[in-house]
Amino acid sequence: MRVLVKLSGEALSGEGGRGFDPERVDYIVTEIKSVVEEGFKIGIVVGAGNLFRGVELKNLTMARADQIGLLGTVMNSIYLKDIFERSGLKARIYSQIVNLPDVERVNYDSIESALRENSILIFAGGTSNPFFTTDTAAVLRAQEMKAKLVVKATKVDGVYDKDPKKFPDAKKIPHLTFSEAMKMGLKVMDAEAFALCKKLGITVKVINFFEPGTLLKALKGEDVGSTVVP
Ligand code: UDP
Repeated sequence: MRVLVKLSGEALSGEGGRGFDPERVDYIVTEIKSVVEEGFKIGIVVGAGNLFRGVELKNLTMARADQIGLLGTVMNSIYLKDIFERSGLKARIYSQIVNLPDVERVNYDSIESALRENSILIFAGGTSNPFFTTDTAAVLRAQEMKAKLVVKATKVDGVYDKDPKKFPDAKKIPHLTFSEAMKMGLKVMDAEAFALCKKLGITVKVINFFEPGTLLKALKGEDVGSTVVP
């Protein structure tokens, strides 16, 4: 089965952190390795919150701040490729926005052959455009690698009716549709990402990635996290 895993930049740095935390990075490798070894074909879209987020650079024009954010996703992708390869996994980076020795242009034949050789596909550079997010990029790249599932790796074990960190009575919603999530104003993903999921028939699973083994359980169809269906 093919799956696109969306990692936020903070997955690499720890919550609120900057840069790369070696323990976090080791953890990501362990979790991804466990699913690759089970035969799942993995694509990754990584954010850049550990380096830059466009919205944080308030003194810049949005389009410029977002371009800096996009480059941050390339940095994270190169970092991930290196740590995956050091742990014996194969990984290839695809992007439309940079021309670097370790980065290939998105090419569907190349993606297919990479998947056949069990390489992890790392998609860098978001959607290639300012004004979007890496959530939208995750859905776009899922479609390009022919995955019908996007796993959003978060620090919360699913979708709640309100922020469980602020409200102790928040209720988990294990199954919902994109329309329901939109109507309830739940911030699972942005509206552009939802619209694309609906259009392309892609399901999103929101999991607590930081609970060891949860990614594998989610891919094996066990009842973890929340599932948002088109
Ligand atoms: N970004 C963009 N276009 C995209 C994806 C990302 O301009 O298609 C920029 C945007 O500035 C964003 C930053 O890259 O804030 C990092 O992405 P994101 O905020 O999604 O990262 P995360 O919060 O998941 O770490």
